[in-house]
Amino acid sequence: MNPAMDQQTSKRPLSPQWDPWDPWHTRSTKGRYELTSVEFTVTHLCNLRCEHCAVGEMLTEVEAEPIPVEQLIRRLEEVDTLQTLSITGGEPVFNPKTVREIIRPLLRYARERGLYTQLNTNLTLPLSRYEGWVEDVDVLHISYNYRDASDFHRIAFARHKRDVSPAAAEKLFVQMVENAKTLSKAGVFVSAETFLSPFTVPHIESIHRDVASMGCLRHEIHPLYPSDFARDMELISLDEYRDAVRRLLKARVPDVWILFGTLPFYPCSSREEDVELWRDLHREEGVTVRHDPDGRNRLNVNIFTGDIIVTDFGDIPPLGNIRRDRLSDAFDRWLGHPVARRLHCYCPAARCTGPNVIVADTYYPETDFQKRKARISL
Ligand code: SF4
Repeated sequence: MNPAMDQQTSKRPLSPQWDPWDPWHTRSTKGRYELTSVEFTVTHLCNLRCEHCAVGEMLTEVEAEPIPVEQLIRRLEEVDTLQTLSITGGEPVFNPKTVREIIRPLLRYARERGLYTQLNTNLTLPLSRYEGWVEDVDVLHISYNYRDASDFHRIAFARHKRDVSPAAAEKLFVQMVENAKTLSKAGVFVSAETFLSPFTVPHIESIHRDVASMGCLRHEIHPLYPSDFARDMELISLDEYRDAVRRLLKARVPDVWILFGTLPFYPCSSREEDVELWRDLHREEGVTVRHDPDGRNRLNVNIFTGDIIVTDFGDIPPLGNIRRDRLSDAFDRWLGHPVARRLHCYCPAARCTGPNVIVADTYYPETDFQKRKARISL
């Protein structure tokens, strides 16, 4: 391990002023993107089959043999710039073996190296399954797109091969809510993500209040990514999106940090209302607009195939394989990729680093962002 990194064990607390997953920090201070984030897909098992699942087609009933965790860590050792480590699935906590042999060693390594960590979970498993290691996670990330157990039943089992009874779904929903409350009370930073869809938009205020009442410190708001299971789901228009954001700002619970991720509005827009929204979001206390980490500071690694990809949503082929490639080499390869060149525009005075690939393809298929410039300074 890099000795300088070894000593970097005291971490600045996460806050709207300090989000180490945001590529803005490196881009604005170093004048380039650096690989500061690695995400491991550690399982394709899951007890749910959500209608919006971005890796739904990859979910399985039987798992392949993963690459040994020591080999994963050796690749992390080569990345001097690393600051954050994310763990995703499937449901990472589903199989105790995954927790024991992959997650716990990765978290231990991250703690010793002073890395920030995030684990994406549906939080529906018994609380005991999270005990003994969850305190090493900086951000416990959940999805929350429901008003109640009946919404959860419809959404979380939409693609399930077996019929799941409303009572069984309710049990999981209650478990998730209780887990979120208990872990939040115990000091775990729980961050709930809601995507804006034709279903969630009319209820966004009450969903936000429920997120706050579970004790979540952060509410993340994202577009629905039309990929994989969600490929054919209906999307909202940009007008509906903007309106939902405005309504949420009015109704927000002040102590809850709201993070807008992959926001589909930019300060180069020809529409005054988009530019105004950008300006207002940057003025609002406790609200942040996170620049897109995918390919700007983060790569994803599938621990079964070893494939290194830029995002688990897009259709961009692997940039390399962890069995033979260094992560930083794969990242450099990506920075030279035509898609990266097309979308990595940069308007520092307006604090913008350009759009996410799926959002751009969905909402701005005809726009050449390299020909645009921000119309405002912040
Ligand atoms: S960085 Fe790109 S998206 Fe952002 S304002 Fe500039 S041109 Fe537009």
